[in-house]
Parts: sequence; structure tokens; C-alpha cells
Amino acid sequence: MNNNIREEIDRLTDRLIGYAKKYYNDDAPEISDYEYDMLMNKLKGLEKQYPEFMRPDSPTQRVIGTVLSGFESVTHLYPMESLQDVFSLEEVEDFDRRVKERFPDAEYCAELKIDGLSVCLEYQNGVFLKGATRGDGITGEDVTENLKTIYDIPLKLNSELSPVFVRGEVYMPYNAFEKLNEEREELSQPLFANPRNAAAGSLRQLDSRVCAKRKLSIFCFNLQNGAELGFEKHSDTLKFLQNSGCKVIEHYIVSNKISDICGFIERMGELRGKLAYGIDGIVIKVNSLEARRLMGSTAKAPRWAIAYKFPPEEKETRLLDIVINVGRTGVLTPNAVFEPVSLAGTTVSRATLHNRDFIAEKDIRVGDTIVVRKAGDIIPEVLRVNFDKRPKDAVPFEMPKTCPVCSSPLYSDPDEAAVRCTGSECPAQLSRSIEHFASRGAMDIEGLGIAIVENLLKEGHIKSAADLYFLNASDIAAMEKMGEKSAGNLLAALEKSKGNQLSRLLFAFGIRHVGQKAAKVLAEHFITLDNLRKASLEELISVRDVGEKTALSLKTWLDNPQNIHFISRLEQAGVNMAEQVERKDGRFEGKTFVLTGTLPNYTRDQASKIIESFGGKVSSSVSKKTSFLLAGEDAGSKLTKAQSLGVEIIDEDAFENMIKE
Ligand code: NAD
Repeated sequence: MNNNIREEIDRLTDRLIGYAKKYYNDDAPEISDYEYDMLMNKLKGLEKQYPEFMRPDSPTQRVIGTVLSGFESVTHLYPMESLQDVFSLEEVEDFDRRVKERFPDAEYCAELKIDGLSVCLEYQNGVFLKGATRGDGITGEDVTENLKTIYDIPLKLNSELSPVFVRGEVYMPYNAFEKLNEEREELSQPLFANPRNAAAGSLRQLDSRVCAKRKLSIFCFNLQNGAELGFEKHSDTLKFLQNSGCKVIEHYIVSNKISDICGFIERMGELRGKLAYGIDGIVIKVNSLEARRLMGSTAKAPRWAIAYKFPPEEKETRLLDIVINVGRTGVLTPNAVFEPVSLAGTTVSRATLHNRDFIAEKDIRVGDTIVVRKAGDIIPEVLRVNFDKRPKDAVPFEMPKTCPVCSSPLYSDPDEAAVRCTGSECPAQLSRSIEHFASRGAMDIEGLGIAIVENLLKEGHIKSAADLYFLNASDIAAMEKMGEKSAGNLLAALEKSKGNQLSRLLFAFGIRHVGQKAAKVLAEHFITLDNLRKASLEELISVRDVGEKTALSLKTWLDNPQNIHFISRLEQAGVNMAEQVERKDGRFEGKTFVLTGTLPNYTRDQASKIIESFGGKVSSSVSKKTSFLLAGEDAGSKLTKAQSLGVEIIDEDAFENMIKE
């Protein structure tokens, strides 16, 4: 039991450290903040119950974050702490009780918690001198030059006080974020997951000209050395900062009643969707700077403040349609199309429904009122159906029976939710399937990369991989970035590829589960594509190393009329459709076999090729020189003759034993 708990704590710790690394170092989170917070909460709970298993590097114990090489590191004069999170109003009331036990008249300042990244700005004699990121709370990165590009950071304060250390949150407003991602999409650059990551990625650009273009802004929320400068209340420092020209958090209240604070949390929760920037909660702080000093901090966060985190924003909307998208790999993905809603600052009207199982599990039907959310990430998701609002005529959703793009039959593994199109000429998958067809492990058509494939498709020269073999030199030469020489080279490569072994061709078809190895096994077994096409499902399954899934997928593919047409075009072009079985070893050297009757798993052709591949000979008549008679069902006179001559008689099982690797 205890070992299990230790392992669980270990696993959670490692996972959270891994996620934090992606989040802070690469500005590319792998999970949503909400999921991260929930895992963190779980770890905290376990550590509280079993403190003996807490790891010294636990993310619950310190501010996580690093200093990127490329920036000077800065040691913070005032540690830049994190905050203790809570997720319910009861926990906010618990916090109030803890504070009031010690300071019965305590007053709070509650503020929006801006979803950005924390920086500290240093002013000497009113002049902005240096700015740094939070880093690990003790040491951060010097991003002064980038901060100077942010218009909302005053380079000079309207105040004589000195020094002034201001803490604030750099963020990217929603409209700037949307525009940035649109630009990145056009340039095929990876998109930022959310405004926070975009802000962090921008502020950590080594070239400040890039940062300058990113439209960052700041909200200041703390005067780090307020007590030293003679202030008594946090709210007074906010006023001071505002008067000095800093842009201070827009919404905050001061009150000694926790009910007011809870009311503020609720109001701000409603306002949240209407703000031009992201907030992820409300920070509740003890207002008296002296009380703060007395309460102190843990290694990670002050005891005088908590962050109430909002649950991810959810909205109800109506599901207008479920449309199917056929991806480049042939997978059919259902997508929800709903009435547009504004979520986390952007308008969304579509979300993936993943696969048929997802839809069935949530029982999602067109016409339903659905609840959607965007958990701080760009990808919206459908959470659930509001069954109370289901229209009477709503019917369960059914996946199409054939590919909505090319009408091919569909295939799906018995244990998999994904449904795939089996069409070799399906327009939705063409560029990718042709690229695969030409790739090195497949038909190895040198010089035929994705760019040329896409150009050939765009110009209408090809509609399937088979069309490649009917291209003419002038069409290719006239294409962008091609000329006569490259056209000649490409045609030569195509010509050469016609002589490839059947195993390459089989792999080139891109049939699900028929990888290079299975293709080789199948080609060596059946020798010709024709034999393979005639094989029944049972025959396919009985081939060594070919499982049921492969056989089923192969059979569906081979029976698809589109693929029959595709193969006949390849045949017409003169593409080789047989396997030359290589000589494996000389174990049958000097031995002569005669075949008779019907073998359950091999045609005569196949068995002969195998015998020859081991150096043996196949003869049509039995004599004293015959080494083995391979006898199948209904063997006739050859069997009697062999018996009379004392020739060793073997059946298919014995034969298979003899040819084992
Ligand atoms: P935090 O973001 O929960 O809270 C602390 C921060 O709040 C401070 O650093 C400060 O910059 C900011 N803040 C904004 N407004 C403020 C205000 N008015 N007053 C005081 N502070 C204010 O804690 P954290 O340690 O920075 O980061 C942890 C959070 O980061 C997690 O809760 C999680 O949501 C996110 N995270 C996500 C992943 C992921 O993979 N998705 C990984 C790591 C961390």
C-alpha cells in the first residue's frame, strides 16, 4: 500500500516537473492550466497525508521556472514569490479565519489575477533601470531591453521616491494574440497555445525588435519595497504607483468583510469573458504591510495571500451540425459546428469531437444544447450535453458508411475508435499517400518530394500515384522550379521504380498495418499480386506473422473498386507485380523436390519459389533421385510411386519445419 503511494507521489512529481519545464522553458504547455492545477492539488493532498514520501524537488515546495541561457541572470533583491492556490469560496473563508485569528480587524485587498508572466521593474531616482522575469523566484532573466519596448511601462516615474521596485504582470491582450497567431499560421509557424505563452515567448526573445512587434502590455500589482518607503497599506502603494504613471490592475476592492471579497470574486467571474485580456483568478491579500511582515512566507508563497482560481470558462451553445473531416492520413474526424460563442476572449464555433466513441459516450446529437469550454488553451472542447434542453426529434449521430470525400469503403480496427478511408485515390489524402508511395522504403522514386507532388496535383497532372507513370516530359518541365533536366531525371526514376519487387509496391500502397515487414512476408508468400488478391481472409490470416487485423485491413483495401482500378492502371504502366524470392541459404542444395496434391497454404508456384530460394530443385516427376515428395490433399499416382521407390514423403507441416529460419 505504502509503496503504491510512494510510487504515485513519485510519478506525479515527475509528471508535474516535466509539464512545468515545457511551460516555463519552452512556453509550450502540454496540458491545460486547469489540468495542471488539478494534478498539483492531488500531489499536495498526498504529500500532506504522507509527508515522509515528499520529494525534496517537489513542485509544491518551490517556485518553478528557469533562466534561459542567452539572458544575463539577475538576483532579485526581493524574492518573487508564487501564490498559494485555492479553488472554492470555502477555502477563501478558511483563509479569512486563519488571518482573523491573528489579526481580527484585518482588511483585504482583492485584485484580478492577470494571466501573464511576472516581472520586476527597478527604478532609480525615477528612471527605469532594469527589469527581470521571475525565474525561480530568486534569480530571473534580465529582459530590460524587451521591457523598454512595452509602451505601458513608463521609462520615467512622476515621483522622487527611490529606489522603487515594482512587480507587475506582462500580458498579451486577446486581440493582439489572435492577430499574432493568424500571422504565424500564414507563415506555417507553430501557434502559441494561449496569450500567456505568447507573452512569455515574446518577452524572452533575444532580439528586442521581435518583442516590440508583439503588442505586450503590463498591469502593476505590487510595490516590492513599499514598507521601506514608508507605506502602511498595500492599497496605498497601488494608488502611489498609479500616480507615478504605472498602469495598475484595473479592478480591485478593499474590505475587511470576507463576504465582500466573495461577492467581488463572483462579479469578476461574470465580467471575465468581457475583458480584453485573460485573468485566471482573484488574488486576495492582507492589506496591512506590517501584518504581512509578521505573517511571513513559506519557501514558495506568502502566508498573507491566496489566489482563488476560476474554473475554466464554460458556455452553452447550440450544436448546428456534425461535419466529417477526412485527414491526410485518411482518418475521419467528426467536428462539432455550433452557434458562435465568445470564450477566453476569442470567438469559437467549432470543436473536434474526436471519434465515434467520444460522441456515443457523451450522447451528442445535432440540435442539442452543448457546454463548451476553452481551458486556457486555443483548442475548444465539448464538455457535455444539457439533456434538459434536448429537442424531441434529436436522433443519435451515426458515422457515414463510406468516405464522404471519395465514397470508398471505410475500415476500422476492431479495438480502435478511429475510422479510416481505404481509397488510394481519395483526394483528401492524395498528396500524403503519393508522397508515401514515392518514399525511399516504398517505390523509392528519387526526386519526387512532397513539393513536386503537390504541384503535380495542383496542375491537374495526376489524380493518383498510378498517374505518375503516365506523365510526360514536357508537362513536368513546364512546372515551377523544374526544367528539362529535372523532368528527365524524374522520368528515369519512375522508369526504374517499375522494376521494384512486389514487397515494395505492397508497402507503397500505404495499407493500414501493412508495414515494410508484413509487405515482405506477404510478397514472399504469395509471389504475385494476383495470388494475393485471390487469397481468402482465412488464407491471409494463416500466413506466418500476419494477424487478423492486418488481414482484415488488407482484404478491405484489395476489394475496394477504387483500388482495383488503381492496380490495373499500375499494371497498364508496366509496374512489376511479382516478388523475386532471394536465395536465403543452401539448406536444400543437391535436393530435389516433387510436389503433388493441394497444399493448404501454398500454391505450387509459391512452394517452388521457396524451395529454390534455399538452393533446392523442383522436378515434375518422381524418380530414385527424388529427395522429397511434398504431398498435399488428394495426392495421386506420384504418391504411390514415391512410396514404392522409398522416397521420403513430407506434408506441409514438415515442410514448414524445414524452411523455418
Ligand atoms: P500562479 O500563476 O498560480 O500565481 C502566481 C503568479 O500570479 C505570480 O507570479 C504573479 O505573477 C501572478 N499574478 C497575476 N496577477 C497578480 C496579482 N494581482 N497579484 C499577485 N500576483 C499576481 O503561480 P505560478 O507559480 O506562477 O504558476 C503556476 C501556474 O502556472 C499553475 O497554476 C498553472 O496554472 C500554470 N502552469 C501550467 C502548466 C501547464 O503545463 N499547463 C505548467 C506549469 C504551470
